Amino acid sequence: MATKRRTRSTAATAATTAGRGPQPAEQPVAASRRLRDAADSRLAHPRRFRAGQLKALERLLQEKEEALCGALAADLGKPAAEARLTELDRVKAEIDHAQLHLGDWMADRHVKVPVSLQPAAARIQSRPLGLVLVIAPWNYPVLLLLGPLVGALAAGNAVLLKPSELAPETSALLARLIPEYLDPRAVAVVEGAAETTTELLGLRWDHIFYTGGERVGRIVAHAAAESLTPVTLELGGKSPAVVSDGNFPAIARRLAHGKFMNAGQTCVAPDYVLAVGAGAAAGLQKHLPRAIAAFYGKDPSSSRDYGRMVNDDHFVRVAGYLGDGRLVSGGSIDAAERYIEPTVLADVDPGAPVMSEEIFGPVLPIVRVDRFDDAIRFINSRPSPLAAYLFSERPRLHAAFEDQVRAGGIGHNVCNMHLAVPGLPFGGVGASGMGAYHGKAGFDTFSQQRPMLSKSARLDTLRAVYPPFGWAKRGIMRRLG
Ligand code: NAD
Repeated sequence: MATKRRTRSTAATAATTAGRGPQPAEQPVAASRRLRDAADSRLAHPRRFRAGQLKALERLLQEKEEALCGALAADLGKPAAEARLTELDRVKAEIDHAQLHLGDWMADRHVKVPVSLQPAAARIQSRPLGLVLVIAPWNYPVLLLLGPLVGALAAGNAVLLKPSELAPETSALLARLIPEYLDPRAVAVVEGAAETTTELLGLRWDHIFYTGGERVGRIVAHAAAESLTPVTLELGGKSPAVVSDGNFPAIARRLAHGKFMNAGQTCVAPDYVLAVGAGAAAGLQKHLPRAIAAFYGKDPSSSRDYGRMVNDDHFVRVAGYLGDGRLVSGGSIDAAERYIEPTVLADVDPGAPVMSEEIFGPVLPIVRVDRFDDAIRFINSRPSPLAAYLFSERPRLHAAFEDQVRAGGIGHNVCNMHLAVPGLPFGGVGASGMGAYHGKAGFDTFSQQRPMLSKSARLDTLRAVYPPFGWAKRGIMRRLG
């Protein structure tokens, strides 16, 4: 209770200060020094403090839902229903899960001690790492900033958050709200672009958690290597969806939903489809346009449920892919609105630009392959994706897919949804990243698993291992191992 009261009163002070006028923007060095003090004094370690901060974050999401949805609409044209479903509800689910399991996660785990060391007790303690830096991208700017925060707070760390400058409304709103709700001694938001991130990367951290593209991922990994700081890289890549057989109207709806939410700017969206055989290709070409029309109407530009490209650069980049295949559906654009219609391309050359770079926009190329094995070979000949999906009703194919495909996560007959299960770790492999979070995986990412061995010294039961090693001791040691 004491911690809760202290948290509230600090928050109240921050809120009062905010009421007097705009708060000065947090600066990297000053903010990191303040948080380092919190880490050194173990401010965020007690379970009550962790639970209090999670509760406060939950309150922020509840009380500021409208403002957050407004910022997401301004930055990404994100429909409010989609913002709730894919961002706010996801963070709430992570908080609920952490609240439910916090006690278990924090508890020491006892392990067996070998006979040669007995009597003794061995346990593994989950210890906070200290001070962590979270760098987020623009495409899910609430989820990808606050999701890692849940794991970092649950694990008892002080946290500095760096939102993306490409979602400026959301960044400014969170920079204002977080000090109002969370304890500013333990959590800070520093806004800014590449120069700010570069400055942050030059400071001392106990862990760096980065979500974004591969190019900056390399910069982050390089900076972390200089100071031997552990790093989690949540990157992207071209996540394939293999379609073999099944209920094509349902498959088309699931693909269209996964692909066109957030106007295709989703890291785990099916980037392209590999249709196995002529039947699958024909089924998709018939039903994908129907699914798109059912979701967004005849003119998606007037749909309340369809988003926009984040900025002009991404608009121009993605619009450039529209000529890379035969147009099955969509294809229209409006530069002033940064609107790109949900688009399906067929007869796409595997060497075309749309098949070489991560699309990260509402264009879905279909590439036909003759056999299921060709699809597996196609996927494995490219950098490992963040996710891979298979649509089929044949268990044998699912088993082969699981066994042979290298990807961060797998979806059987479903796209994108595995990241909505807090009990599943989420992360990439190879080119799509390293490390994982969500649920217990997030708690573990931001914790040290510390081994502890305790033994009484009253009776010296270790004498058998001390030199000199005569024949009797050598015999005992051989027997005990
Ligand atoms: P972005 O441009 O917002 O960059 C991410 C962060 O890096 C930002 O905070 C930005 O300030 C910082 N940054 C940019 N340039 C920098 C530089 N030169 N030096 C240091 N820091 C710099 O986001 P993005 O990279 O366009 O994000 C899109 C990519 O992220 C896609 O590849 C997508 O697949 C991937 N992504 C992955 C996940 C995941 O969970 N694995 C989630 C979302 C997006």
